[in-house]
Amino acid sequence: MTTRDELRLHDVPCPLCGGSRVTPVMRDEGFHWISGPGLVACTSLDHGAFGQIVACDQCGLRFRSPREDDATILSLYADVEDEVYLENEPARVATFSRALSRLERHVPVRGPLLDVGCYTGVFLDVAARAGWPVTGLEPSRWAAQAASAKGHRVHTGTLDTAPFPRRSFAVATMWDALEHYADPVGELRRARDFVRDGGYLVLTTMNIDTLAVRMLRKRWPWYMRMHLTYFTPETVEAALGRAGWRMAMLTWSPGTISCSSSPPTGVEEAQPAARACVGSASPTGRSPSTSAIS
Ligand SMILES: [Zn+2]
Repeated sequence: MTTRDELRLHDVPCPLCGGSRVTPVMRDEGFHWISGPGLVACTSLDHGAFGQIVACDQCGLRFRSPREDDATILSLYADVEDEVYLENEPARVATFSRALSRLERHVPVRGPLLDVGCYTGVFLDVAARAGWPVTGLEPSRWAAQAASAKGHRVHTGTLDTAPFPRRSFAVATMWDALEHYADPVGELRRARDFVRDGGYLVLTTMNIDTLAVRMLRKRWPWYMRMHLTYFTPETVEAALGRAGWRMAMLTWSPGTISCSSSPPTGVEEAQPAARACVGSASPTGRSPSTSAIS
C-alpha cells in the first residue's frame, strides 16, 4: 500500500494565517494526490476525490491537507495540456464578456491589464477587443503558447518569475485562480507588486459559505484535489488585507465570490492607492463558463 510519505504528501500550515492547529472537516475514501497534470487541467472531471480538507482552528480557513509540496504542484501546472478547453472556448467567450462588463462597471481606471492565470487567452481576447492593452501570465507551457499564438504578450511562468516592471499595470485579474495556489496570500502580494497605486485587482473564487455546500458535503462537486483552498467572503477579504489590498467591492452568489480591491498607500495614504474586487466563483469552480463577478 502506498503511503502518504511515498507520495510526498505533507501537512501544511494555514495558507491564510500560518496557524498549524487544524481540525479535519472531511476526507474522501483515501489520501488522493495529484498524480498527473490532467488532474489540474481546467476541464478536469476529477470530482469527488479531494483527499482531506481541514479547517484552521485560528482563522477558520478550509484547505486541503496533507498535500503535495509546492514545487510538485507548480510542475504539474507547467505540464498541463487541455484540448477540451479549446473546444469549449466559444462558451467561455460569453462568460468572460460578462466578467469584463462587470469589471468595467466597477473599476474606474483604465490602462494596461494583467490577467494572472490567463490559460489559453480567452479573457485576453475579450479585453483586447474592448480596447484594453493586455498581458497574460500562465504557468502551463501549452496554454501560454495557445494564448501567444493569438497574438498576445504572454509570460510563461508565475508572478515569481514575471519580468514586468513593478507598478506597471492599472488592473490585474485573477479569474478562479486563487483556490489553485499553494500560497494564495503570497500570490496576492506578488500581484500587488505589479499594480500601480490607484489600480485594481479583480478576482473571483469559489464560495463555500453556501447552503448547497453545507448540504451536499462530500458530494459538492467542486471539492477536487486541484482546489487547495476553499474561501468564504470573510476569508477572501482577510487574505486580500494580509496581502496589502483594500477591498473596494465584494459580492457573492451561491457559487461565486467577486471582489475588487486596491492597495493602500501606507501611512501617508490620503485615499486608497489600489483596490481589489473579489467575487466568489461559481459552482463550477475554475471553469470560467459559469463563473462571474456578481
Ligand atoms: Zn488560519
